[in-house]
Amino acid sequence: MSNVVGVAQEDGSEQGLRGQGHHTSVVEQGRFCFVRCTCGWRGPARRARSLARTDGEGHRARA
Ligand SMILES: [Zn+2]
Repeated sequence: MSNVVGVAQEDGSEQGLRGQGHHTSVVEQGRFCFVRCTCGWRGPARRARSLARTDGEGHRARA
């Protein structure tokens, strides 16, 4: 019974969003691009990079 050790921690703590900054970055995927945040949030696929960027700004404003 010694194998119950250290299963608790996963590295992405999704609960602690408050103190963490939201850093968004635009990811290009084929013809589309989307914005991705360090908190794990991801925006919808857009054709225009500027739109993806706007999604990210909206997300940070709400967060
Ligand atoms: Zn975020």
